[in-house]
Amino acid sequence: MHAAAKTGAPVVCLYVLDETTGRAPGGAARWWLAQSLRALGVEIAERGGSLVLRRGPAARVIPEVVRESGARAVYWNGIAQAPHQSVERALETALAKLGTDSQNCPGDLLVPPSAIRNKDGRGLRVFTPFWRRVLSLGDPPKPLPAPKALHPAPRIAGDRLESWKLEPAKPDWAGGLREAWGPGEAAARGRLRDFLKRTARVYAGDRDRPDREGTSRLSPHLRFGELSPRQVWHAARFAAAEDPALGPGIEKFLSELGWREFCRHLLHDHPDLATANLQTNFDGFPWTRDDKALAAWQRGHTGYPIVDAGLRELWHTGVMHNRVRMVVASFLVKHLLIDWREGEAWFWDTLVDADPASNPANWQWVAGCGADAAPYFRVFNPVLQGDKFDPDGAYVRRWVPELKNLPAKLIHQPWQATPIELASAGITLGKTYPQPIIDHARGRERALAAYAKIRRG
Ligand code: FAD
Repeated sequence: MHAAAKTGAPVVCLYVLDETTGRAPGGAARWWLAQSLRALGVEIAERGGSLVLRRGPAARVIPEVVRESGARAVYWNGIAQAPHQSVERALETALAKLGTDSQNCPGDLLVPPSAIRNKDGRGLRVFTPFWRRVLSLGDPPKPLPAPKALHPAPRIAGDRLESWKLEPAKPDWAGGLREAWGPGEAAARGRLRDFLKRTARVYAGDRDRPDREGTSRLSPHLRFGELSPRQVWHAARFAAAEDPALGPGIEKFLSELGWREFCRHLLHDHPDLATANLQTNFDGFPWTRDDKALAAWQRGHTGYPIVDAGLRELWHTGVMHNRVRMVVASFLVKHLLIDWREGEAWFWDTLVDADPASNPANWQWVAGCGADAAPYFRVFNPVLQGDKFDPDGAYVRRWVPELKNLPAKLIHQPWQATPIELASAGITLGKTYPQPIIDHARGRERALAAYAKIRRG
């Protein structure tokens, strides 16, 4: 947008909903996209332009709009992922035939994958050296300002956003998402400012606490390009320079942004990240098919309060705290022995930040088959995780209200309560709240036995 506006020529702002390139977004992400486009349309209109919406394969639609408008050049934000890159190549060829310039502007990454290669020309699969290399390259280029004014272009016909039916109607399940989020660039900037002013101070200590507001909640804004990692990087570095007390929190925060980058570089090198184990010895893993257990997990009815709280938070708000994502993912693939791809697909449909790189890369990481993965034999104990990261049970009480009257020492393991304790908290296990779907020790043993099979094989 910056480069196009700088030419001084009239600008057509075009968004193409291309459902043939990459992975079709899930339900929660489609809802976000609709809000985000609405907000973008308003911001463009305030600058004198208008946002044109078209649907179809981008390599066909964009040359059509070029012909209709007589545009002399096309600018876009490059995405370093296989399906998008092949569209970009097709587009460049089509535009060259029309005699139209094209300019692919980098905005999605801190550094391009080509800058971080080992001596065999391959991407790095271990995070620490990867991040060290990114840091060694110094600050990424400064973000460019949004144009203050746009020269209006001749009117180009476009679709009505509503005609794309991105938002749920019957039933409208998006009430919780509306309560929790304000998509769009202005909200994203506000959230970044708030984070740097307040939360960054406690981030290093609180980021693992789902019962506190200890993280930035920027992931969907980054996912949809409402903020770029370069903007986040420079704003964070600036805040740390102004107030050195923020230093440790900001370093940790930037390294998390580094995981986003790492996942994107992995997807660049492994376009089938969502379907194929990075460690191929997992190809013969004896996953079980258990639709009942999968449904109990999806609905937050496993009988493990921290797991259920996470899955209900996800269903209601479209996100889940990172620590809890790790716990629920580990529970699915280890305690329930269900294929990580089932969990990945559920997250894909329900997360507003569902990301083609971060989602599968993290699932593979938890399952033990990914890059720099947690070792498979590390099986999270959901009770200990709850006691450690939600010590008073505030997170569980919020999302699993039927347990709210249990004291903190029992809230992560209601099955340990005596009948009197249960009765006084108004709980009947198996009725008002489920019994554990599987015993932790048994689940752990079963997981380790399954893992031993692939190690031998
Ligand atoms: P903060 O702690 O404030 O971190 C700042 C930013 O860094 C985040 O907004 C995000 O862009 C990035 N980030 C942080 N942690 C990670 C990570 N582990 N991997 C990649 N990027 C990270 N994140 C997504 O954005 N989309 C997903 O689809 C997604 N799926 C996940 C699935 C599983 C099983 C797990 C364990 C994690 C997943 N994550 C995903 C990573 C992480 O949980 C979220 O990015 C984080 O919870 C977002 O909250 P935040 O913005 O407050 O994070």
